[in-house]
Amino acid sequence: MKRPVLIRAYPEFLALEGYCKNCNLGYPMKTSVRQYLERTNFLPDEPIKSECRVCKNISVLVPPL
Ligand SMILES: [Zn+2]
Repeated sequence: MKRPVLIRAYPEFLALEGYCKNCNLGYPMKTSVRQYLERTNFLPDEPIKSECRVCKNISVLVPPL
């Protein structure tokens, strides 16, 4: 008998809406689920910051889900 193929319970990446304070630009971005959960668990009040694709500053804020 064949063993059933394991299906991942969670997708690896989350699509989030990021917003750059510097450029006043919002765009969709991807983060790993693990990274997102770690951040929201340990720093629930800290917004997640990421590098902006346009201005290359760490000024993109990702609001919590
Ligand atoms: Zn920017």
